[in-house]
Amino acid sequence: MRAVRMLDLELERRFLGPRLETAIQEVLSHSQFIRGPEVSLFAEELGKYLGSIHVIPCANGTDALQLALMALNLAPGDEVIVPAFTYVSTAEVVALLRLQVRWIDVSLEHFNLLPEKLEESWSPKVKAIVPVHLFGQAAPMQEVMEFAREKGISVIEDAAQALGAEYIYPDGRRQKVGTIGDIGCTSFFPSKNLGCYGDGGAIFTHHKELAHRIARIANHGQDSLYEFLEVGINSRLDTLQAAILRLKLPYLDDFNARRRAAAEVYDAYLGDIEAIQVPVRVSWSSHIFHQYTVRVLDGRRDALRAYLQEKGIPTMIYYPKPLPLQPAYQDSAYPVGSFPNAERLAQEVLSLPMHPFLSEDQLAYIGESMRAFFR
Ligand SMILES: *Cc1c(COP(=O)(O)O)cnc(C)c1O
Repeated sequence: MRAVRMLDLELERRFLGPRLETAIQEVLSHSQFIRGPEVSLFAEELGKYLGSIHVIPCANGTDALQLALMALNLAPGDEVIVPAFTYVSTAEVVALLRLQVRWIDVSLEHFNLLPEKLEESWSPKVKAIVPVHLFGQAAPMQEVMEFAREKGISVIEDAAQALGAEYIYPDGRRQKVGTIGDIGCTSFFPSKNLGCYGDGGAIFTHHKELAHRIARIANHGQDSLYEFLEVGINSRLDTLQAAILRLKLPYLDDFNARRRAAAEVYDAYLGDIEAIQVPVRVSWSSHIFHQYTVRVLDGRRDALRAYLQEKGIPTMIYYPKPLPLQPAYQDSAYPVGSFPNAERLAQEVLSLPMHPFLSEDQLAYIGESMRAFFR
């Protein structure tokens, strides 16, 4: 059996085969490494895939979030609601722009923000909310959108972990995550469901003016060459990455389906273990399993992790500490205990190996090893 990895990019490269070299070779041939034709072609293709939306490529997912916030004309001290249980980028860009984070606790079932806490997280200074679609499943967007409309605030979706996942409305209508709020953001970091072979990111919006503005901010604030209309940043997706993403985009749905199939095999092995909560599938979203994250309910998470490590099975803890308790983000307004669910999840979550190329024998080996631990 091939050694199990959290993510196996080598198998993906084998799957893509010589097409990968061809795509890279084409860029080398024309040598337009910045703003080459592949960049705008990819933006168009991704826009079509998501459902006719403007796509502005940028350098990484963190920049995407920063650009989205910069385009909203917020003033220093304005507040932004962010889940207490997410990757650091979501809060980092808020703090960088001298805005204030207002944390919201998350669900023990689906790990996304808790709609019943929205009102509590609000203040008159709140100007935006950043729902994160964690681990590949949509946040409760209908509640978020209703709340945002009622309060007159903007919605920036962090879809870095959920590109291709669909929000499902009560009437069955489906909409790709990242295209529901005012602005959507994603990352093409190699480990994401649509990853490039370096750094990359993108911003989505239905509003033409806003798209134009975001593209301008990402390009030093210039509209035409050497006319700087506002202070911007330099954030570009490079041509090589765009060429790789163009090659991979047509496989995104297939890769996500393979992840789902692997998740079902995990479920079958783990579903009846009392101390394990397998990933809860919510009614309002498809799940693309960026991560397969279980909760270990008997306090033995770290022991299980060590046991699996012994067996050659890597696992990860996403995330070991809620952001409000991280040194850089501590605030006396939010003492320990402010976000009980996020704090509890940090003690209980464990992410198992997840990628489109897990074999049946690998999945069986992981499932059996988990069962053996709890026997
Ligand atoms: C990966 C990730 C980001 C940041 O993406 P980078 O491309 O690494 O900057 C932001 N938010 C979430 C939830 C992520 O998982």
